Amino acid sequence: GPLQECELRNLAELGMGNGGSVMKVEHVPSGVIMAKKIVLIDAKPSVRKQILRELHIMHSCSSPYIVSSFGAFISEPNICICMEFMDKGSFDSIYKSIGRYKSNAQRTSGVEESTEGPIPICIVRQAVKRVLGGLVYLYEAMGVLHRDIKPSNILLNSEGQVKLCDFGVSGELENSVAKTFVGTSVYMSPERIQGSDYSIKSDVWSLGITLIELAHGCFPFSDTEVDESPSDSAAPSATLSLTRRSQRKSKGVSVHGGVGTLSILELMHHIVREPPPVLITPSIPHSKDFAGEAAQFVDYCLRKDPNERPSPRELLGMSWMDDEGRDEEMDLRKWAVTL
Ligand code: ADP
Ligand code: MG
Repeated sequence: GPLQECELRNLAELGMGNGGSVMKVEHVPSGVIMAKKIVLIDAKPSVRKQILRELHIMHSCSSPYIVSSFGAFISEPNICICMEFMDKGSFDSIYKSIGRYKSNAQRTSGVEESTEGPIPICIVRQAVKRVLGGLVYLYEAMGVLHRDIKPSNILLNSEGQVKLCDFGVSGELENSVAKTFVGTSVYMSPERIQGSDYSIKSDVWSLGITLIELAHGCFPFSDTEVDESPSDSAAPSATLSLTRRSQRKSKGVSVHGGVGTLSILELMHHIVREPPPVLITPSIPHSKDFAGEAAQFVDYCLRKDPNERPSPRELLGMSWMDDEGRDEEMDLRKWAVTL
């Protein structure tokens, strides 16, 4: 039968995002552990019902690269979506905790501490391959775009499975959440920032940024120098200061830099105007050991013209995605159990 709220027992909070929070819950009658996403919705009852209908598409998703869904229900004023619980969490919390572990070790050895740490490039490669599998499935079998590729929407479990969550099955859900929150993301492609139609190529851009973030252990634009001169900024200063103010309280839009902090608007300008970030860069010393084919893969993902950017299926055909003849010391499952 359909999921009932009264049958769920809260176990722990898994995280908070811009749109709500995620709880680890137990479905008491079956003993199944689930992740319950609670989204605050600003919508009329008729729209809420429409959202539930759209979310139903998630039920028909069946792929090893997509989190499975147990159902959704309305719990005024929220919509709750129950999905497969992934016990190793999302890739953002994984790389951030690798960093914390490292910084403890560094503290005892007296070396300067860092707050975040990279994921081994061979693991990034294998995870990216699964993400592409998920994108191909969503696009080709379900006819949907993901629309929110970022480290926190890529999940891992201790079996070494990598799965996507929070994909755009519900246009109405996206509309209703956008009204209550700043509907903007630092993983947005240049064409999307400029207001063009969203396409599968926009998901590929977000994957490229995500890939660099995981391999570097920090968000790629974080050491960008910003030109603060007002004449250089196309944005009205009122908008800019508004952005700065809201950025302080809301998680997920603030970008820390060595030089200063980029406001979300400054970052958007930067993404549109400047060359895309690269995988191998002097500012990340360990990146010099990455293979040329990895760097090339990222360059393709981050081509600013979406027409020159490959599709997920085309990316799966690139040499870096070929498992053949690779002597990787670790697979996803072995790595997952070390976390
Ligand atoms: P965001 O993706 O912007 O961080 P969300 O509200 O979507 O915000 O998710 C909050 C956190 O909950 C995520 O960062 C992730 O660590 C965790 N999470 C989400 N879904 C699951 C899941 N199915 N299993 C385990 N953890 C999850
Ligand atoms: Mg999410």
